[in-house]
This record gives sequence, C-alpha cells and structure tokens, in this order.
Amino acid sequence: MADARGPIELLALDRGLGDEERLLRETVRRFVDDRIRPHVADWYVEGTIPARELARELGELGVLGMHLQGYGCAGTNATSYGLACTELEAGDSGLRSLVSVQGSLAMFAIHRFGSEEQKEQWLPRMATGEALGCFGLTEADAGSDPGSMRTHARRDGDDWVLAGSKMWITNGEIADVAVVWARTEDGINGFVVPTDTPGFSARPVGAKLSLRASVTSELVLEDVRLPGDAVLPEAKGLRGPLSCLDEARFGIVFGALGAARDCVETAIDYASSRTQFGKPIAAFQLTQRKLVDMALELDKGMLLALHLGRLKDDGLVTSQQISAGKLNNVREALAIAREARTILGANGITAEYPVMRHAANLESVLTYEGTNEVHTLVLGEALTGLPAYR
Ligand SMILES: Cc1cc2nc3c(=O)[nH]c(=O)nc-3n(C[C@H](O)[C@H](O)[C@H](O)COP(=O)(O)OP(=O)(O)OC[C@H]3O[C@@H](n4cnc5c(N)ncnc54)[C@H](O)[C@@H]3O)c2cc1C
Repeated sequence: MADARGPIELLALDRGLGDEERLLRETVRRFVDDRIRPHVADWYVEGTIPARELARELGELGVLGMHLQGYGCAGTNATSYGLACTELEAGDSGLRSLVSVQGSLAMFAIHRFGSEEQKEQWLPRMATGEALGCFGLTEADAGSDPGSMRTHARRDGDDWVLAGSKMWITNGEIADVAVVWARTEDGINGFVVPTDTPGFSARPVGAKLSLRASVTSELVLEDVRLPGDAVLPEAKGLRGPLSCLDEARFGIVFGALGAARDCVETAIDYASSRTQFGKPIAAFQLTQRKLVDMALELDKGMLLALHLGRLKDDGLVTSQQISAGKLNNVREALAIAREARTILGANGITAEYPVMRHAANLESVLTYEGTNEVHTLVLGEALTGLPAYR
C-alpha cells in the first residue's frame, strides 16, 4: 500500500501542540495501550472495572484533577487535560468517565467552591487516587431539568440533615466522598458528604448496555446528618453544579474523539486486511468514501476541540462554546462509530473489536453532561436570544 497515513496525521493537527502536550499525550497513550487495551473488552463484557486499582495508577500518572492548581494536582493547561481525555477514551469511555467525574466534577467542585479545610482534607488524596469522589446532581425525576430536584437539606441546630436520592451517579458505590446537590431554604447548595456517614447508601444501576466498564449508582440519603461546615460555601444556586458540568463537558469534547479515532483506526486496519471479491475491502470506492468521511469529521472535531482548548487556556471560553463542542463532537463520534461498525461487517458486533463497544458507550456520552437536545437549545438561545427550554 502506498504511503498510508493515520486519520489524525491527515491534516497535521499535531503542529499546533507544544512539546509538553505531546509528551503528556504519549504518556497517557502508552498507559492505555499497556494497562487498558489488553483487558477492557473483558471488563466490558463482565460489566466491571477495577476502578480503585486504576484510580491509584491514574493518580500516579498525574491525570486526576490534572488541570487544577495546588493541593497535589498537576496544574497543566486545559488543552493538555483535553488531550489526556482523548487518549483515555480511545481505551474506553468508562475510563474517561472515571477521570472526568473525579477531576472535573468532584474535585473541581471542591476546588472551586470549597472551604480551605475541605480542599486540604480531600483534594490531595483525590489527586493520588487514594480517595474517590462522585457527583450527585441527577435524580430519577430530574435529569435535563436539575432545578426540579427533590433532594433537600434542612438545618437542625448547627447541623445539616440531607434527605432524598440521586440516580445515574458515576462511581457512586465506590466513592469515599460524594458532592451532593440539594435544595435548601436559600436555593440549591452543594454538600461534601463522606460516604461512610450514617444514612448514606449506594447501589448499582442494573442491566446497563452502555458504559459497562464504569460504575453507575443510585445514591440514597436517609436523613444524613452533616456538620454545618459540610456545605460548599462558595456555590450559590444552580450555577454551581452547572459550572462543574462545563468542566466535564470540555473533557468530553476531546474525549469522544478518542473513541472515534479508535474506531477509524480499527476500520482502516480491518478494511486493509479483509478481502472480498478478490481484493481488500479498503480498495472499494464505497469503503474509501466511508473512511474519508469518518476521518474528515474526526479531524474537524479535533480542530474544534483544540480551538476550544486554546480559548480555555486563555480564560476566554464560554459555556455556549463548550456546548457547541460537546454537541458536535459526541454526535459525530457516534456517527463515526456506527459507520466503522458497518465496515467490520459481522465482526463489528463482537467485543473482539472495539467499535460496537465505543458506539454503545457513546450513547451514554450523548445523554450525560447535557443531552444533544439540551445543547441544541443552548445554542438556539445563543443564536436567537429566545430560550426554548420550556
Ligand atoms: C452512564 C451514565 C452516567 C451518568 N453519570 C452521572 C453522574 O455522575 N452524576 C449525575 O448527576 N448525573 C449523571 N448521569 C445523568 C445524566 O446527566 C442524565 O441522564 C442527563 O442529564 C439526562 O437526564 P435524563 O436521563 O433524566 O433524561 P431526560 O431529561 O428525561 O430527557 C429525556 C429526553 O428528553 C429530551 N428533553 C428533555 N428536556 C427537553 C427539552 N426542554 N426540549 C427538548 N427535549 C428535551 C432529552 O434531550 C432526552 O432526549 C449519568 C447518566 C448516564 C447514562
């Protein structure tokens, strides 16, 4: 075959990266190749992930809360964090979810809105992976509209008493600390809840067909009594959790492209060696069109991600821009995964190849951190000035 190029090299996007960013990307890529790829299909089929063990290794790698400053966090730029997400999600969206929830949701909430004591108590141990966090916003009846949450906290003397439940919470059963959002007399507040507090329990969400290599839980809060200083002092109203979601979405803008890249690379490899009608299926024009369309969307998505990364590094990125990235890149990543599946024919539906696993995972990624529709409404409002949420 003459001068074949990888999908990312096609547009020489690497030229926009600094040496440190490339080095970090290579380090995470190597970790995923050595530690994740050999096992992830089995984890997926079995519906499990050795999250605690991996958290320690990810901590050593320096990717937990890596874009946060101080408290044992690596303090990298946002683009580096994004590139790490791409590599992690090339392994599996469940792995990237583990890192996103830890760093961008639980740690970010404490880092951005917590007291000095809360930061000192949790962040260094979360950066090493010794302590795991989860982020409880969604409820069974409050998903896209978290403002309708029912979980509430009331004052009892100096204490807070939390009651309610949260649904679809990544890392819920294995977390040491839960950041839980609840309604109070003053609106929505965030609480730092050690998961060994009496009244706190978590149980698995059963029968998932997506993100199977990820822990997803229901949290139950039965009159969980917390000291007065368990509240996140700087988080006021729904803006608090929504700003955490922006952080995690930013990681998804890059991350989803990792899953997509793995699909494109797998499809190119497969099409080059699979022969039908006397030649490799990669030599058919219809297959080449699929590969080209996939590679173009992948590279356009990466251009968008890098652009948002640079805006974020300069402190300029807006919530609407992150919505645009999440909407486009997850939608296109899912389309790429489905198209790649067709190229692999029957083999594409097995766990022997990663494409169906990525496609199934991306269904969750399309829904969490704001659904496709909600991000469309965010952008619709940005364009027209007319909110159309209700
Ligand atoms: C694997 C997984 C892990 C998750 N992890 C976490 C976590 O760690 N923490 C956490 O808090 N949450 C988590 N979530 C929850 C996730 O954020 C929610 O599922 C998401 O916000 C959507 O809520 P919902 O599922 O209730 O769907 P709904 O809000 O009921 O939406 C159903 C459909 O209606 C559409 N819809 C809703 N409102 C509108 C509207 N105004 N206009 C048009 N269409 C609309 C939606 O776009 C969607 O298509 C997770 C979810 C999954 C699947």
